[in-house]
Amino acid sequence: MMASLRRPDYRVLTFPPMDNVPGHELHGTRQVGQWPADELVGLWGRVCSGVVKQGFVIEYRDLDPPRTGIFDGLRIVIDPDVGFEMQCFLLLHLFGHSVQWVAPSLEHKLADLQHTEDRNRFMQVLHAYELEAAGFGMQLMHQVGVTTLDEWYSDFVATDWRYVEGYYRTNQLPDWNSCVVCGCPLVTPAPIPELRHHEVQVRFAF
Ligand SMILES: [Zn+2]
Repeated sequence: MMASLRRPDYRVLTFPPMDNVPGHELHGTRQVGQWPADELVGLWGRVCSGVVKQGFVIEYRDLDPPRTGIFDGLRIVIDPDVGFEMQCFLLLHLFGHSVQWVAPSLEHKLADLQHTEDRNRFMQVLHAYELEAAGFGMQLMHQVGVTTLDEWYSDFVATDWRYVEGYYRTNQLPDWNSCVVCGCPLVTPAPIPELRHHEVQVRFAF
């Protein structure tokens, strides 16, 4: 079921005309999907470096829909057809999940994610799992010296959660744009634990 999740708008996201306006004139009005490319280019380079230094390979690959990004404990794979802003988020997001799957200190938590049958309980477990991954992404962003995109990242995390939660609740893919939120509470960075890289079953963004 997870494989059927696709964020349908990922591939068609383009930078709107707003992209031509200097970033400082837009503070407070920007939303997920509308971030200026120049800030994101800086983020991308630094986060790539940080992810590789944490021992993961980053790969571009043509993934079969509905996949936009995958990870397997050793590498993080992104489909280059995904819009650039989404690629930036996916890299941070999949890094966070990769940590969860190869950190010995976190291993005990994965059983709940895989074996919780009760739906309400599962959604709580899933939310905690997503937030924990988000914290590792925030931590990495700070470690590589990016400190001006906390709000962007936090809004993206909240938007992504609304999308995932909506999918589980309705069994249908929500409209990504209807999930976009801004001004969300900032994600709390979480120290990255010791990693022992090993291959795990290929997984998607959640
Ligand atoms: Zn996720």
